[in-house]
Amino acid sequence: MIEWSDTHRSIRDMVRRFVEAEIKPKVTELEHGDLPPYDILRKMFATFGMRDMGEIRAAKAQARAEKRAAARARGEDLQQEERTESGDQVAMQMLPIIELSRFCPGMVTALGVSVGLTANTIMSRGTPRQIERWAKDLLTLDKIGAWAITEPGSGSDAFGSMKATARRAEGGYRLNGNKTFITNGPYADTIVFICKLDEDNDPKDRKVLSFVLERGEKGLVQSKPLKKMGMHSSPTGELFLEDVFVPNDRLLGETEEISYRSGAKDTFTAERTGVVAMALGIIEQCLQLSVEYAKTRVQFGRPIGDFQLIQLKLAKMEVARMNVQNLVFRIIELSTEGKRMPLAEASGCKLYCAQSAMEVALEAVQLFGGNGYMAEFQVEQLARDAKVLQIYGGTDEIQISQIARSLLAG
Ligand SMILES: Cc1cc2nc3c(=O)[nH]c(=O)nc-3n(C[C@H](O)[C@H](O)[C@H](O)COP(=O)(O)OP(=O)(O)OC[C@H]3O[C@@H](n4cnc5c(N)ncnc54)[C@H](O)[C@@H]3O)c2cc1C
Repeated sequence: MIEWSDTHRSIRDMVRRFVEAEIKPKVTELEHGDLPPYDILRKMFATFGMRDMGEIRAAKAQARAEKRAAARARGEDLQQEERTESGDQVAMQMLPIIELSRFCPGMVTALGVSVGLTANTIMSRGTPRQIERWAKDLLTLDKIGAWAITEPGSGSDAFGSMKATARRAEGGYRLNGNKTFITNGPYADTIVFICKLDEDNDPKDRKVLSFVLERGEKGLVQSKPLKKMGMHSSPTGELFLEDVFVPNDRLLGETEEISYRSGAKDTFTAERTGVVAMALGIIEQCLQLSVEYAKTRVQFGRPIGDFQLIQLKLAKMEVARMNVQNLVFRIIELSTEGKRMPLAEASGCKLYCAQSAMEVALEAVQLFGGNGYMAEFQVEQLARDAKVLQIYGGTDEIQISQIARSLLAG
């Protein structure tokens, strides 16, 4: 793939019109945290048929899970069965991410965690019954999901330092632990809670399991949104669990035999490639605003675009846009070919794109001068939002280690 097709462009334009009509006028409310993003996202789902597509995805996932369960009963393992989406499906997911990220990257985070991380975890690990019970409502956005692995003491070393536990109890499990920085945590109806099975053994030898929690569960407290630097349209919170009893059917897969660690690579790859599309949206918007400003802002009797130092900024932004867009095309093209991006490559993409989005947004602030520092001109918001791309989904440093590990293992 070397460019967007005419179909892609017309879909992009429709989404762009929706974003400009429905989101742009509400950015201030979303930014101040007065307006949770979910109703606008639901309207987008209804407008573009994404709700119906969600129902179809859930039905397909259920059929796959039934096949997996039947194979397991025969003693076979279909866990490794490849499940790649077509290039067009991936493009259709990326176009709204890019368009939303031009104004509200936080909405992508809220959406991606709910219909991506949370629903995908349930679909890839759940039994057919669990998929029917929870994934369908997440994929249609009828319910909001959260995916909780990070704890106050465990971030980059998510599995190694994890303290949250599950202990077997009569008819189920008792869950304990605190999770932090959880996207949608304050509002989530359905939460994937990742913890270790405590069998009075050494914590480093414990199995990692995942459970589904529902809002209002006894012993579960969902905090208010945390105050943060950017991504204000994506509510982030803490979860506190004190002796939360859950029956056996809340354990994803309803078996302790499938460790959460197996298959975690797929989750990491999906998270990392999603950031590439977000970075493109941020860069495109910063570049467009900067070009307009460079043509119209006059200093020393000339538009600032006449100055070579300003031209250098614009040219570097354009090079970043071209590179990041090409990575988006590569991700789509791999899916068209039925291939999956290796984790180390996804790490490389995320590292490059997150850093590029940050650099471009900061250069845009500089190009706008004092106005760049003012909220009214939008680039300061995009600069604050871009920073988190270097932190969540694995920090830059973790991506670097992943790339280097892969090189040195070769
Ligand atoms: C807005 C936001 C939303 C989030 N949403 C979610 C969510 O929905 N669910 C969820 O579970 N988590 C979520 N997170 C958590 C996120 O994934 C973690 O913040 C991230 O993985 C980093 O972990 P940490 O914050 O504990 O930093 P730490 O791991 O403590 O890292 C601190 C610093 O040390 C560096 N470092 C750590 N280890 C190494 C190493 N081996 N080599 C070199 N440097 C190292 C890091 O790169 C970083 O610079 C979110 C975070 C944010 C900010």
